[in-house]
Amino acid sequence: MNFRDFILSCFAVGFVCVASSEPSPPHQSPIVKVFIDAGHGGRDDGARGKFGTLEKKISLELSKLVASKVKARRLNLEVRLSREDDKFLTLTERVTSANRWGADVFVSIHANSSPIPKVHGYEIYFLSSEASDDAAKDLAELENGETPKINSDVESILNDVQTNNHIVESSRFADVMFNAMSKSIAFGRAIRQAPFTVLQGTTMPALLIEAGYVTNKDDAIKLQRPLYLKRLADAISLGVINFVQRDVTYDYDNKTPKRKSSSGSTSSHSDHA
Ligand SMILES: [Zn+2]
Repeated sequence: MNFRDFILSCFAVGFVCVASSEPSPPHQSPIVKVFIDAGHGGRDDGARGKFGTLEKKISLELSKLVASKVKARRLNLEVRLSREDDKFLTLTERVTSANRWGADVFVSIHANSSPIPKVHGYEIYFLSSEASDDAAKDLAELENGETPKINSDVESILNDVQTNNHIVESSRFADVMFNAMSKSIAFGRAIRQAPFTVLQGTTMPALLIEAGYVTNKDDAIKLQRPLYLKRLADAISLGVINFVQRDVTYDYDNKTPKRKSSSGSTSSHSDHA
């Protein structure tokens, strides 16, 4: 039974599955599936920056590190990467892969670029139909590449109650991730929203992380240093674990499985973010 099935079964029986007087065997926590999407790849280099820095290389190296660090932190986690080498994947293939696997959380990893060389730092994005600012809008258009811009189909998806639940969860995931990253990485620019195609079709809390600007000299140097990538991976994996713990372990320890959803459509959920 995976995490989602477990939660659904708990709600279906009014939490009896954890409130039962029958002793539960140890280590019964459901498996939580974490999908790490390494942005770009193959013929899609992504952003090109200082010193020949390629976004697709940074995203792959960092994604692999994040996957290994997440695996190392908890036993009841499964981690899957969208790609493990330099191969091209469409954005739809990435989303489909995560959805079919039944991922519980989705993190897409990228590196940013800007025409202004001094712009630097990491950013965390989650989905919305409208970008939170012009820079976020431009970035979404860049990351979406050849895929169609947001259209009426996407608008209808965004109006879907379930999707709105995921956006609320993604917003909380972004807060948790930003807190985790800001403890060890010096310059976090912001949490922003934008209509990223790779986040539009996901059926779970989903983030896109821009790890830094390859067009900034200092960021480009740091993003090519294995030690800095490990620090970033530590921070991102901590953000994933902290979010999962808030949704899973913390509540299980208190025998109240509350997968938070503040849309109002699932009133049995409790939101105490
Ligand atoms: Zn990218």
